[in-house]
Amino acid sequence: MARRGLTVLEEAEARIVFADGILYHRVHIVENAGWTNALPQVHGRFAGDPPPIADNAIALGHHIYFPRQLHTSAESLAANELGDLAWLIHELAHVWQAERIGARYLVQALWNHLNSKGRVYDFGGEPAIVAAIEAGQNLAAFSIEQQAEIAREYCIRRRLGMDTHAWEPLVTAFRAR
Ligand SMILES: [Zn+2]
Repeated sequence: MARRGLTVLEEAEARIVFADGILYHRVHIVENAGWTNALPQVHGRFAGDPPPIADNAIALGHHIYFPRQLHTSAESLAANELGDLAWLIHELAHVWQAERIGARYLVQALWNHLNSKGRVYDFGGEPAIVAAIEAGQNLAAFSIEQQAEIAREYCIRRRLGMDTHAWEPLVTAFRAR
């Protein structure tokens, strides 16, 4: 269970989303942390949901614990294998939240999970982004997990060279210090 900082490449990708919005030098990644996958299963049983199939990570302050090693090398990204990078970006959004609201992020995330009936990560896609901006809302209109998903999807869209102009007014909040 080795602890490491962000790689140069990971930080460069994170900066596309968060610019100077995160204290990157404080971020530590812990891979092969076996206990993270146990968490939602305990919670899932508690809430009556089936255990998730996907791997689970957790961000605690500036430490992000992943149950396995991340594939975020230049080769992976060049092959458009973006799943792990996008996963990292989702977790870095929690770091961004923790830098602003501290441990309340974790309480709100758990609250999201308890109240979402399995749709905790569904923010509504680009139509919801456009609707929020038209309604004069900002990132705060979205839940903790939805915000992290917005960051994740924005990262993928940028990597794939997709049009992100509708997202910019919202994503800009991630970049403010
Ligand atoms: Zn999350």
